[in-house]
Amino acid sequence: MPAPNATDALDTARRWIDDAARIVALTGAGISTESGIPDFRGPQGVWTRNPAAEKQSTIQHYLADPAVRRAAWQARLTHPAWTARPNRGHRALAELEQRGRLHALVTQNIDELHQHAGNSADRVIEVHGTVRRSMCWQCGDRQPMERTLDRVRNGEADPACLQCGGILKSDTISFGQALVPEVIDHALRVATEADLLLAIGSTLQVYPVAGMVPAARRAGARVVIFNAEATAMDELADLLLTGPIGELLPAACGLPG
Ligand SMILES: [Zn+2]
Repeated sequence: MPAPNATDALDTARRWIDDAARIVALTGAGISTESGIPDFRGPQGVWTRNPAAEKQSTIQHYLADPAVRRAAWQARLTHPAWTARPNRGHRALAELEQRGRLHALVTQNIDELHQHAGNSADRVIEVHGTVRRSMCWQCGDRQPMERTLDRVRNGEADPACLQCGGILKSDTISFGQALVPEVIDHALRVATEADLLLAIGSTLQVYPVAGMVPAARRAGARVVIFNAEATAMDELADLLLTGPIGELLPAACGLPG
């Protein structure tokens, strides 16, 4: 049951984090909004303000329409991930890894801010990929995004794969695109290995990743949800911390204020 007030809830979260040996974190857009990366469907969301952007991110439109691809490349040039810095929420999770308590970090985000905050790449499971690589839809060749964006800046409005001439996109999961089964299996498996699951900044509406919460619970883990508003899984949580993640998460991890 959620604790009766915020101070009690923070104390409880701090105690559980101190006691846990195998913490698994699941993060969503809400942990990166304080770094200036907007979410998609919230009031300030990318698609709320620019419905055409949703069309750009649908794989069928992207593959079929060169104009959609050209617009997508222009948008990638100014993606907020290029200038975003990790915030205190990201740094709290890096600190948990330093303490040897973080078993895995599953993220729905594509910004690599967890790695920039200090989490090791092999501990971060990116279920939606990363915007910091480009990939070829035909042959699967992957390149640093910065290198591909240089080609766009140099006049290639819709750069083709240098290996096979195929269509390039960011190495992210677009709408209409299948998830990578091995990555999802890995995420669901680490959930069952946790003794404490921290769900942070995710509305927990998107399956199969949201299934980590019931999976962790069934395996006996405690579940703590940090989010700015209610999530689809609040009734499964042992504890709810509702408010700014950049304040609540460091406080729960015992970091100085
Ligand atoms: Zn290719």
